Amino acid sequence: MPTCLPLVLRRCHACASERFRADGKFRVNAHHKLIDAWLLVLCTVCGDTAKLTVLERTNVRSVRPELLDRLHDNDPVLAAELLRDPVVRRRNRIALDWDGAWRLDTGGPGDLDREAIEVSVCFAARIPVRPVRLIAEGCALSRAEAERLTAEGRLVSAVRLSGRLSDDFTFTLKR
Ligand SMILES: [Zn+2]
Repeated sequence: MPTCLPLVLRRCHACASERFRADGKFRVNAHHKLIDAWLLVLCTVCGDTAKLTVLERTNVRSVRPELLDRLHDNDPVLAAELLRDPVVRRRNRIALDWDGAWRLDTGGPGDLDREAIEVSVCFAARIPVRPVRLIAEGCALSRAEAERLTAEGRLVSAVRLSGRLSDDFTFTLKR
């Protein structure tokens, strides 16, 4: 589950840093019947502000009033939703850095020390993670142990555990 907003990967024109932080502030500019809206992001090194386009010369009547309210209220939940929207990311040519912006909730110790367990992993947001790392952390294994168990066929899943994943999956672990 996310713990905070991910960093935005984008080149800073002022200092050539590549990481920006969104703090949930928006700028809205209405001109006659047209509206522009941006999500503001700050360079993590020099503090320079960049604008990510949310609405571009859009007829104000075609914008849901609820969305307008959230833009004007600088709704941080809206900022999170927009950053997770692939359309917004593509339009602004940004990627996200989720390092340190999520945590694994195992729901307590449970039956993790049983001989064989089947576990469902549910993503609260589409956060790209390495399943092996997640499993190692959740089952109190070292990464090397998790990799050895995979090689020995005692850690199995329908998904490829060595890649990156952001969709729900299940795995079985036999110690
Ligand atoms: Zn900068």
